[in-house]
Amino acid sequence: NEELMITSEKMSIIGELAASVAHEIRNPLTSLKGFVQLMSSSRTLDDQHLDIMMSEIDRINLISGEMLALGKKQDVVFRKEDVLSIMSHVMVLIEGEANMKNVLIQLVDESKYPMHIYCDQNQLKQVFLNLLKNAIEAIDDSGLIIIKLSSNGETAMVRIEDDGAGMEKERLDKLGEPFYSTKEKGTGLGLAVCFSIVKRHKGSIRFASKIGKGTTVEVEVPLAK
Ligand code: ADP
Ligand code: MG
Repeated sequence: NEELMITSEKMSIIGELAASVAHEIRNPLTSLKGFVQLMSSSRTLDDQHLDIMMSEIDRINLISGEMLALGKKQDVVFRKEDVLSIMSHVMVLIEGEANMKNVLIQLVDESKYPMHIYCDQNQLKQVFLNLLKNAIEAIDDSGLIIIKLSSNGETAMVRIEDDGAGMEKERLDKLGEPFYSTKEKGTGLGLAVCFSIVKRHKGSIRFASKIGKGTTVEVEVPLAK
């Protein structure tokens, strides 16, 4: 179980997406249609079927929401922002989810100077949110996530380390592939969104993982001159 590393520079995924989106959305739609037909022929509304319908609608919503984030080109505003303040805000957003799973998130700032980068802060927050969500979801019961900020003078480095389940090489190789998910309710779009946003910021994402030990993600973005 040695440590495995990959560097991913995923290419434009939009084209690849079109076909799989249709597929992913067709399943919940087919199920919705079935229930609507059933209800209209039996003239009854039963709670159990309504619940399933609601969750299928939620799923379509979730997938289209993430698709929008992925394809979004408008309203992107690049400004000089401070990585620490972006990360502090993200931690507030994710706090509830972390608490519910007894996951402690520690922020360690190892940078000597404030790290300023040119970025769209909403998009960058989305990246860190998605990565932290995955880290929390990889942790079974309770655990620790350490976020380290550092800089080599050229780039800002954000490292997110979890002590969750970790993953094998086959899975590492697939990260960032749209709709690749090992979760029952996963969309498999979180990391595709991350790769696409980080690429737009001329940065890179790397994953290292060890089964049973956890996963480390590094996001590196150029510092603003
Ligand atoms: P989703 O979270 O909806 O499954 P993502 O694109 O966010 O989709 O992640 C894709 C897959 O990558 C996950 O289903 C999971 O198998 C794997 N993964 C991502 N982050 C981690 C992590 N920190 N630890 C273990 N597995 C991870
Ligand atoms: Mg995810």
